[in-house]
Amino acid sequence: MTHNSNKVVIFLGPPGAGKGTQAERLAREHGLVQISTGDILRDHVARGTELGQQVKPIMEAGQLLSDHLLIALIRDRLAAMGPVRVIFDGFPRTQAQAEALDLLLEELGAPVNSVPLLEVPDQTLIDRIVERGRQATARGEQARSDDTEETARKRQQVYREQTQPLIEHYQRRGHLYTVDGVGTMDEVYGRIVSGLK
Ligand code: AMP
Repeated sequence: MTHNSNKVVIFLGPPGAGKGTQAERLAREHGLVQISTGDILRDHVARGTELGQQVKPIMEAGQLLSDHLLIALIRDRLAAMGPVRVIFDGFPRTQAQAEALDLLLEELGAPVNSVPLLEVPDQTLIDRIVERGRQATARGEQARSDDTEETARKRQQVYREQTQPLIEHYQRRGHLYTVDGVGTMDEVYGRIVSGLK
């Protein structure tokens, strides 16, 4: 497999659908770089940087940060790459972010290849998020402060209002395919890989 041509995969799906876990494996096995905006931001919060201090309360409330901030962050990451071989997980999340990303990728000559949409029933999502928080605590780790039932519901609502419209954005361009996100990690991974272009 050649790993020197551009490839862009965007994971779509609600919070708790398994985007992070699946994107991590896909990146590892396909020679791609995972860009998880949530992880990048949590790292800033953990290090107590100026940006981290600024975004912490917004993340804890389950709200989205400004498009301007996220677009600048992504622009910097992409500019630092040779061939653009990337999996986005958690970006774009709004129409403005999707349009900005289209432009950025056009400038770089690296169009979107595939957009898997992970589908999982609402209550399963909440259960998974609450369980993720519980397990982190049981391992003696710091659970994500937004992995509570109340904030999970808020994040779901924000997803429905602001991110779900992107399904149509990528459907119109012929990039989107839906993946049943219920099953073992291997089963879901197999479905994702079989739909990749
Ligand atoms: P995630 O780990 O992807 O669920 O992201 C955790 C939190 O980080 C979100 O609830 C937002 O507060 C913030 N965040 C991550 N990505 C974005 C984005 N693309 N646009 C706005 N806010 C974001």
